[in-house]
Amino acid sequence: MLRFASLGSGSKGNGTLIECGMTRILIDCGFTLAETERRLQRLGCSAASISAILVTHEHGDHALGVGRLSRRYQIPVYLTVGSFKAIADKQFAQTLFINLKQTLAIGDLEIIPFAVPHDAREPCQFVISDGGVRLGILTDTGSYTDAMLEQLHGLQGLLLECNYETEMLQRGPYPYALKERLLSRYGHLSNQQALELLKQLRLDKLQYLVGCHLSEVNNLPEHAYAALCKGVGGQCNGIKIASQQEGLDWHILN
Ligand SMILES: [Zn+2]
Ligand SMILES: [Zn+2]
Repeated sequence: MLRFASLGSGSKGNGTLIECGMTRILIDCGFTLAETERRLQRLGCSAASISAILVTHEHGDHALGVGRLSRRYQIPVYLTVGSFKAIADKQFAQTLFINLKQTLAIGDLEIIPFAVPHDAREPCQFVISDGGVRLGILTDTGSYTDAMLEQLHGLQGLLLECNYETEMLQRGPYPYALKERLLSRYGHLSNQQALELLKQLRLDKLQYLVGCHLSEVNNLPEHAYAALCKGVGGQCNGIKIASQQEGLDWHILN
């Protein structure tokens, strides 16, 4: 059994908590120290109880608060060599490198990292397992490959990026260059891409599917929700949306 929760999800800050037994990991920390502490408290956690921080890539919405949180509470940080080189604040209490070809173990959790196409130095995402259930996290990817899909079959839980509704982005206020970036193979996943991705996965064991990293300008929760429902063939129980402000409360996979 493992459980997961979101501190918040979107371009203004991300953080995902995953817990199994005495092991509690935080994936990304895009909030200031005070904001992180406040959001952890809301989920009934203290920062001191975090076993490790894993960083997917160096963009501020994922990495802004990592250094300060690590130093303040002496938490080890796991990241790729590329992310370490590119991250602004790299004074961690302890630094451990993620090899994208190797599974790593942190306490009671097993972590399978995989590379994603995104405009960062060496970005990755994760599948996390307690040996029984598996939770996939996939945000900040402009497209998906067969190698990525391979990791995502038969998951019990999936946090999946639904960044923008294509029509809203195209008509929206963003400058042309930013629209191009978001739409590119190395940008972010749209609702439509999330739907297509889901259709290619074996989903028979799925308990929770969470729409993540929604744009507050170019998307609406109801659009993301509708795409995810379609993607799983209309079985909409267990579909949630993580928000920028509220994140997502604890959910159990077993
Ligand atoms: Zn991001
Ligand atoms: Zn990013």
